[in-house]
Amino acid sequence: TAAPPPVLDVRDVTVRFAGLTALDGVSFTVTPGSVHALIGPNGAGKSTCFNVLSGLCRPAAGTVTLGGTELTRLAPHRIAVLGVARTFQNIVTTHGTVADNLMLGRHALTGAGFAATALRLPSAVREQREHLERAREIAELTGLGAHFDSPVALLPYGDRKRVELARALCLEPRVLLLDEPVAGMNAAERARTAEAVGELRAELGLSIVLVEHDMGLVMRLADDVTVLDFGRRIAHGTPDEVRQDPEVLRAYLGT
Ligand code: ADP
Ligand code: MG
Repeated sequence: TAAPPPVLDVRDVTVRFAGLTALDGVSFTVTPGSVHALIGPNGAGKSTCFNVLSGLCRPAAGTVTLGGTELTRLAPHRIAVLGVARTFQNIVTTHGTVADNLMLGRHALTGAGFAATALRLPSAVREQREHLERAREIAELTGLGAHFDSPVALLPYGDRKRVELARALCLEPRVLLLDEPVAGMNAAERARTAEAVGELRAELGLSIVLVEHDMGLVMRLADDVTVLDFGRRIAHGTPDEVRQDPEVLRAYLGT
């Protein structure tokens, strides 16, 4: 049987910063409902790739298409509304409750209705209630259900970092970009987050691009792996194929 068309198609993407080629003709595709890991040493270009996919960085060459729609020149909010949501490597929220943060994510989705909400029109009140219900479901799905009304500042680090994941999910994305979702977490928090990501794929049929240094997590969650080094794709394949690739070992061990 033929493989399904990719949900995300990244083709020959090149990004240059004054004198430095951060991405050099990088290509990969994401199969619907799969987890595609993007790995490589520090400075390999992983976060830059996410910046291209989410519209924060315009490539010098190459294209990104989502289910056939070209995203390459669209503004970040357009890309988000079309179905690509992301988390950031080093951002952890400190304000408001979990519910507040998730409702902000919902507002980014609707973008409208603030005036109607302020005027308390019945339709707006109903819509608000529906958003709140969905936000609560997403909190459950990400292991934050018990903390829905807690101030995020009072939560342990791992839970706070997972609020970012939950907020991205509030956009109801087709593709979720996770930039080092377990960085800084302890073993128990890592396990909890891995479980949540696995469930997202299973329950929402979400396609996920995962940047992560924790190789155990990558090997466990990923269907496909693309390896970058100095902005170039040096390997791709299943976790097992990539793990045995001499180029990959060289890049990681520096030999
Ligand atoms: P990774 O996420 O794989 O660690 P990055 O994508 O953050 O790598 O960075 C890739 C390369 O591009 C690095 O050499 C980094 O210093 C450089 N870089 C990233 N962003 C910028 C920027 N805005 N301006 C200049 N150089 C940048
Ligand atoms: Mg990075």
